[in-house]
Amino acid sequence: MPSKSRSRKPAYRLARGVRPEEVDLHVEVDPSRGDGFGGEVTHAIELARPQRAIRLHACELRVSGARIEWEGGRTRGQIEPLPQVEMVEVRFPHPVPAGRARLRLAFRGRLRKDLCGLYGASVGRRRYAFTQLEATDARKFFPCFDEPAMKARFRIAVTTGSNNAVVSNAPIASTRREPKGRKTVRFRQTPPLSTYLVALAVGDLHRSRPVRLGKTVIRTWHTPGKERLTRLGLETARETLARLERYFGLPYPYEKLDLVAVPDFEFGAMENAGAVFFRETLLLLDPATATTNEKKRAAEVIAHELSHMWYGDLVTMAWWDDLWLNEAFATWMAYSVVDDWKPEWHMWHDFQHGRAAALELDALRHTHPIYAPVKTAEEANENFDLITYEKGAAVVRMLERYLGAVAFRRGVRRYIRRHREGNTVAADLWRALSEASGEPVEKLARAWIERDGYPVVRASVRSTGSRVRLALSQERFTEQPQRKTAGAPRWPVPIVARVVGPGGGRGRLERHLLTGARGTLELGSRTPRLVYANAEESGFFRPHHGERELEAILAAPRALAPIERMGLADHQWALVRAGRAPLSGFLALVTAFARDRDPDVLTALHSPLAFLAHDLVPDAAPDCAEPLTRFIEARFGSAFAELGWKPRRGEDEATGLARAALVSILGSAAGSPAMLEAAARHCDRYLRDRRAVHADLVDSIVGLAARVGDADRHREFVDAMAAAHTPQEQRRFLLALGGFRDPALVDRTLRLSLTPAVPTQDVAFLLGRLFANPAARDATWDFVRARWPRLKKRMGSVLAGRMIETTVHLRTPARRREVARFFREHPVPSGARTLRQALERFDWYRGFRGKAARELREALR
Ligand SMILES: [Zn+2]
Repeated sequence: MPSKSRSRKPAYRLARGVRPEEVDLHVEVDPSRGDGFGGEVTHAIELARPQRAIRLHACELRVSGARIEWEGGRTRGQIEPLPQVEMVEVRFPHPVPAGRARLRLAFRGRLRKDLCGLYGASVGRRRYAFTQLEATDARKFFPCFDEPAMKARFRIAVTTGSNNAVVSNAPIASTRREPKGRKTVRFRQTPPLSTYLVALAVGDLHRSRPVRLGKTVIRTWHTPGKERLTRLGLETARETLARLERYFGLPYPYEKLDLVAVPDFEFGAMENAGAVFFRETLLLLDPATATTNEKKRAAEVIAHELSHMWYGDLVTMAWWDDLWLNEAFATWMAYSVVDDWKPEWHMWHDFQHGRAAALELDALRHTHPIYAPVKTAEEANENFDLITYEKGAAVVRMLERYLGAVAFRRGVRRYIRRHREGNTVAADLWRALSEASGEPVEKLARAWIERDGYPVVRASVRSTGSRVRLALSQERFTEQPQRKTAGAPRWPVPIVARVVGPGGGRGRLERHLLTGARGTLELGSRTPRLVYANAEESGFFRPHHGERELEAILAAPRALAPIERMGLADHQWALVRAGRAPLSGFLALVTAFARDRDPDVLTALHSPLAFLAHDLVPDAAPDCAEPLTRFIEARFGSAFAELGWKPRRGEDEATGLARAALVSILGSAAGSPAMLEAAARHCDRYLRDRRAVHADLVDSIVGLAARVGDADRHREFVDAMAAAHTPQEQRRFLLALGGFRDPALVDRTLRLSLTPAVPTQDVAFLLGRLFANPAARDATWDFVRARWPRLKKRMGSVLAGRMIETTVHLRTPARRREVARFFREHPVPSGARTLRQALERFDWYRGFRGKAARELREALR
């Protein structure tokens, strides 16, 4: 996308007076014969008044042959390209009268290389074409009215080589043989769709056997040889689709459901109506070797995309500023649905990991409200982030808890029915929820949706006479200290506190809506044993317990639910980062929680420890390396020794995952030589036989083996990547290449990132791994700067933006200046906000490092 200055885009939006109703789109494309494509599109439009010119979107296409017809007339049009606003203007010699008309255009383009619009992808010698059109890339495929509120019925036809499979939103209506080994596939007309939901896949794709849910036929499409990997994805799709139909009280709204495994894909998945596209790792799984986390992640993404079939596709936000309406809801819905299907997976723990990342991001000054004004395509793309998805979903969850599950569902059903096949703004949802619950939803919701940031809530127990209360106060939480502003905004915070009496157990829940700066929650007449101020982590805020309150929790951590222990670990670490609590206090929490057997609690401890080991220590406290290793070994070593490497017979999933988390903590954060050596040994076994090692251990051991790996190991991983049995295995070896520490091997990995051995979709993630690797980050930065034009072309704008995030590992002020200057000179259009966030994190670290290093030295002495 060309970068554009802010001042020169007055006419970015389309005029309201022209509405498309039906689109006939005929495309000729055969990726095996070349990159050119072209076709004709006819828009049946409704003109509100006579028009001398009509504007519609087209970007990097050659548009020609404009003709328009109406009742009693026709004329040709002159085409004026408007590349600044990604449109063309069709000008007519005389005004076209108001009413119905048919506008026909021819167009030509080339399959793109950057995973958006209609793009080319390869698997070996096979060539494919796929679409990825959200947010505003339908205009790179065909000339169209590319705004979500311009819904139309699409009738799509494709002429291509007769050996190619063709998948689109609707079922095939007819296939006709054409001369020269070609065919034309015509699809049935779709219900009204926004342009960004149109889909096309062309090439040598095979289809799975179908599964059915009621009348809906569900299939997976994949590149040849992967049929055996389709079963789990299909089962997940059927199980979650059935639950979604029940939740919405409305059958699946499209004629069939195709799930397409795309070998090179920008996002995780895309909710094209009736033809959902996925990265292969999220759809094609081998039940015998897939890890629990891979299965959970795939299930979550499949459920997310399928919930969009109602929430997003059938009812669509009117404009990109309400993108959260789609994404926050689909995120929340996916965790709910998978949790209902597989309660043993504890999906809300996974949600808590994502929520923790959103809390971290939202503590920056350069965050944004969930509801974000959007003018341009770049701004729309910037909003696909943790705030829109995870914070949005956390707020949806908070609302659902507050209104009650039954009233909330009643409101959602009302909203979907009322607006089906139409477009909405947030107020439409608030209205439906208010009607269903009798509660004034709008005020509570808007405070969270339209305001950035969130509060920290101080909580301490006070007793006067026979009255015991929890004293509460709130202020905005920021990672860097900020000047106090008078009349700072307050949030309406639904507080749910866990109160455990002297008898122990999990205690009871007490509720209070904190609306002002201060409030109190009555606790009765007896002083509780402990209080936790964010029960079930249902509120999007950080609790800051008083010293005594925290001590009471750390003395009996099992009184908290696992998700609360995860939350507390994250909150206490955030308080340290914000200068609100000492590092020694966090290390005391690590000591208190180290014997925890819940894998998610252990994982929540891992990331702060990894930050200390991989970022703070090498930069500011190299003398602490060994004491930190000893500290971690002393706390987690015996827990691992008890579990051992070998799973016991009949062992549950959680124990296997806890073992994997301990291997990571000891191997990665502690860098324990014994663990690294053992991991390398297990990796040898795994390379010989993919079933020799428990599936849930392989991610950890492959990563650790890379860390101590030599040139032979590097070669083994490159070979294993090329010959991988599953997409997950390929990704595992690929990302592990970012963990090697020998400079010559770092260099080898960097050079590999420019070759087809690393798929376009993974380049940014591999570079992210290299930035996180203390032995590779400087070389990676030099490489990125030296090879930027090629890298950027390979990554595309969205993924290049993701990569910018990871430059923060460079840490030093000198590097900060370089990063700022480099991306000012080489701007990434949808990465502007990400860059500001990265620079802010550099600044935070500069203020943090000295004090933290001193405190760490002190605490480890
Ligand atoms: Zn989504």
